[in-house]
Amino acid sequence: MDLFDHAVRKQSFQNAPLAARLRPRSLDEFFGQESIIGPGRLLRRAIESDRLFSSIILWGPPGTGKTTLAQIIANSSRAYFQMTSAILSGKADLRQIILEAQERSKFHSQSTLLFVDEVHRWNKAQQDALLPHVEDGTVTFIGATTENPYFEVNSALVSRSRIFQLKSLEEPDLQKILHLALTDEERGYGKRNIQIDEIALSHLVNVAGGDARNALNALEMAVESTPPAEGGQIQINLEIAQESIQQRALLYDKDGDAHYDTISAFIKSVRGSDPDAALYWLAKMIYAGESPRFILRRLLILAGEDIGLASPMGLLVANAAAQSFEYVGMPEGIYSIVEATLYLATAPKSNSASAYFTAFAQIEKEGHVEVPDHLKDPSRDGKALGHGKAYVYPHDHPDHHTGQQYLPDALVGNYFYTPSSEGHESAIKDRLFRWREAQESVLNITRSQTLPELNDSEISRIKQKIAKHGKN
Ligand code: ADP
Repeated sequence: MDLFDHAVRKQSFQNAPLAARLRPRSLDEFFGQESIIGPGRLLRRAIESDRLFSSIILWGPPGTGKTTLAQIIANSSRAYFQMTSAILSGKADLRQIILEAQERSKFHSQSTLLFVDEVHRWNKAQQDALLPHVEDGTVTFIGATTENPYFEVNSALVSRSRIFQLKSLEEPDLQKILHLALTDEERGYGKRNIQIDEIALSHLVNVAGGDARNALNALEMAVESTPPAEGGQIQINLEIAQESIQQRALLYDKDGDAHYDTISAFIKSVRGSDPDAALYWLAKMIYAGESPRFILRRLLILAGEDIGLASPMGLLVANAAAQSFEYVGMPEGIYSIVEATLYLATAPKSNSASAYFTAFAQIEKEGHVEVPDHLKDPSRDGKALGHGKAYVYPHDHPDHHTGQQYLPDALVGNYFYTPSSEGHESAIKDRLFRWREAQESVLNITRSQTLPELNDSEISRIKQKIAKHGKN
């Protein structure tokens, strides 16, 4: 590095956000997380002796020190530190990183620490591509994830890594971090004349939700947005602190349990036809910074699963909301989400679409079943084999219906679809029952019940299978 490089680096460090400037450089400056880096703990010993025994995965909420810890490991190690983010990089980038790691090892005998932020965002194929290189030691992998790695990270990668769980930072830790920010003369505001009310400081700590980045960003915003008073002092009171902190952290970490519990409460309220509760949970999610697209996707699913033909407009309204959100965005895009929420919460309900799972389970249990001859395609070997010959064209009959067999012989007399009597489906039910009676009398059918009976876990199993079989 020459003098010019040095000056550029210094300048960019000074322009970096407060949280980046204050990123701890060693374990001495790292607060909290005693359960993994307290005195004598495995990870501390490994860092202190520069012997990272295996790949590791750092799992914890945002702003708790995952990236920082990875950099501390790098600072105390001879190994080359390569950082990447699974959101921004794909297989091609990984190939390049591996190539460079191989060359480093071959020509300079230097090993590589590969830090992959948000590793759960790589799909299975991308995670798989990393495996052989972790296995043969080309790189020592340090993954960071806000999601439970046992569910969200490839199990082969998890089994080759040691998992360390970071917790939301405690209030005393956040207090120490903010104190450092206010007093450090090089990296913080030590040289500036800042006076912050005790209550304003407590507010930042309380609302930061255990996220140090959040607390530091808020302090920075408070300082930078407050003009100095006459004597040159920047005074930060409670009101300024309140404006500066992003409230989204409040009791809601987007990637943790609250995220799943709140969307669950929202969907259950819509399914349970309680528009007030639905609005409440919707507001909570939006307030906390939940992705509107994630909410809209869940409404699209609900429209088919819980409303269906009782109100076929439900799917259209949900779909229109999802599309209009793409054009409008926030804040006005909220109207489409609210409209869809209220429409679906107040619509008549039916879960009759689940009939499909019974049909799927039936297919799973039976062997080869012939299509009845009269339903076969006559255009291929109709002449020779008589396929399609006895088929009756329904439109030639009164009401455009005729009692004809459409199921395979063994299933005649069974019904998959049980229409509800709700909303629009009630008319469907009347019509269908008339047609079924006509069919029963023409074909002389006796009703039977040989179809599989499904419980919830069977349905989940089938959904997983559909996910594998169905091509998107
Ligand atoms: P993440 O867990 O999202 O990777 P980072 O490690 O990037 O979080 O932390 C963001 C910022 O918050 C850091 O730059 C640092 O200033 C501060 N920070 C996070 N954790 C700690 C900690 N345990 N001790 C001191 N500062 C921390």
